[in-house]
Amino acid sequence: MSTSMLHPPVERALRAVSRGYFLPPAWRSCAAADEPLPIGFGQTTSQPSLVARILDELALTGESRVLEVGTGSGYQTALLAELAGEVFTVERLSVLAVAARERLGARGYRNIRYWTGDGSAGWPNAAPFDAIVVSAAAETVPPALLEQLGPGGRMIVPLGPPQGEQVLVRFDKDDDGRVSEHELGGVRFVPLVVDAL
Ligand code: SAH
Repeated sequence: MSTSMLHPPVERALRAVSRGYFLPPAWRSCAAADEPLPIGFGQTTSQPSLVARILDELALTGESRVLEVGTGSGYQTALLAELAGEVFTVERLSVLAVAARERLGARGYRNIRYWTGDGSAGWPNAAPFDAIVVSAAAETVPPALLEQLGPGGRMIVPLGPPQGEQVLVRFDKDDDGRVSEHELGGVRFVPLVVDAL
């Protein structure tokens, strides 16, 4: 997926946020590579061209309220915070959640709300969202997320088996609540882990 023809706000956000700052020290020298990189605890951050494509597809404005499932390093969270009005980010691994929150706080972002837990349930108290982005692959789209997408909203989620062929899918909800589905291409994401209650 190429980074050509991105919306100018997305290009500006990509220039404003340093990927290296969000990487473990050992991987910082690789920050410019358009490759997925390890962020610890078996998790990875996607290649920048894919993050750019996802941000572009979300069509955010300065008023958008966005739900992000899978904070990870916080790199994409920072980009969302540059582009949107308010970001609600959920991460199930508390070590990653705490580190990302510290990093983002140190960068001065004030429009991010954090939650540690299973993001497949969404964030009911903050719904509806104008955009939802899921950064881990699910076998099927979590119903709570589709429910919490507001009219006119867009959701991006990688769908498919943990180790197999996955497809990045965009769900658009129209003003009457009807949902349409658009396949954006093949991808590899770490699995969305749904915790048993
Ligand atoms: N966008 C992130 C990518 C992180 S990888 C970045 O730029 O760094 C995906 C993340 O999703 C991992 O941190 C993983 O722990 C988290 N994750 C997996 N299942 C989850 C779930 N059910 N709820 C919340 N986070 C989840």
